[in-house]
Amino acid sequence: MKRFRFIAALALALTVSLSLSAKPKIRIIATGGTIAGVSATSASSAYTAGQVGIQTLIDAVPQILQLADISGEQLVNIGSQDMNDEVWLKLAKRINQLLNEEGYDGVVITHGTDTMEETAYFLNLTVKSDKPVILAGSMRPSNAISADGPANLYNAVAAAVSPACKGMGVLCCMNNQLLDAKTVIKTHTIDCDTFEGGPSGIIGYIYNGEAFILQTPNNKHTINSEFDVTKLDRLPKVGIVYGYANCSPLPMQAFVDARFDGIVLAGVGDGNFYKDVFEVAEKAQASGIQIVRSSRCPTGPTCLNSEVDDAKYHFVAALNLNPQKARVLLMLALTKTHDWQEIQKFFMEY
Ligand code: ASP
Repeated sequence: MKRFRFIAALALALTVSLSLSAKPKIRIIATGGTIAGVSATSASSAYTAGQVGIQTLIDAVPQILQLADISGEQLVNIGSQDMNDEVWLKLAKRINQLLNEEGYDGVVITHGTDTMEETAYFLNLTVKSDKPVILAGSMRPSNAISADGPANLYNAVAAAVSPACKGMGVLCCMNNQLLDAKTVIKTHTIDCDTFEGGPSGIIGYIYNGEAFILQTPNNKHTINSEFDVTKLDRLPKVGIVYGYANCSPLPMQAFVDARFDGIVLAGVGDGNFYKDVFEVAEKAQASGIQIVRSSRCPTGPTCLNSEVDDAKYHFVAALNLNPQKARVLLMLALTKTHDWQEIQKFFMEY
């Protein structure tokens, strides 16, 4: 009996000490981008994105092995200019599996910076977990002098293991900063300091491998999102039309002729249409193609019923979403409803 108690106590002590010393289980999903890019020489600006694999990325930053129990997988290896709905659906489903079925504590996604904000927002609406999901990329290819990828990856893993990043929705980790999926925007074509958090600013930052949070996103996301991609193998077709002086109605008409499910206007000013484009949009909306008005202005909301009478035409105002994120929300909204008022409500909540 004594012997049994001793063995039981030993087993318990071992389990406790193991669980105390166990590092968080983090999976890195690689999708390509400049962080996996290679240039002809370390000083050259000409390079190809999505060249090196996940293991090379992990091997370049051995310090992450001290932060977490790291494993990696390669989902695709593309420049994020080639990101598409199919990869988004695969990615969201895989993350849900890792976090909800396979016992992972967080996920880091390496991704190109061109469309990182769109992927982040898509995942923010479709991941069903409050565990950290962090996107990281780089502006300089992996073999460049002073490549920014390794530090961004290290910081992203630091964010993924941090309890402070739980419940914050999907975050991007670039240039020591944490940015939230709804407001993050790529602002510069080539600088490392390219991502900004819009008027509300960044969500937090990483310093010495620790995450510091400055504010909490107040829109609905992840576990509070009603969008569910589990059973989806395609998304509704939504295109974006850019507004400008003397604007041609042809691109809008082309989407209508191709029977797209929705069209987002990157309008001038407060989401305004050129008159010829407006005529096409009015008919498209009446025929069941949902029009969402957003703006080509880098800051400020696209307001409901301002210069355009949305209530009369049943257009939806994108409010604080830029055109590319309005497209993401409209695609997901159209998986639930075709009622313009319901869709407007989604734009108010998400
Ligand atoms: N074109 C690249 C991409 O988005 C740029 C980058 O990663 O910085 O994949």
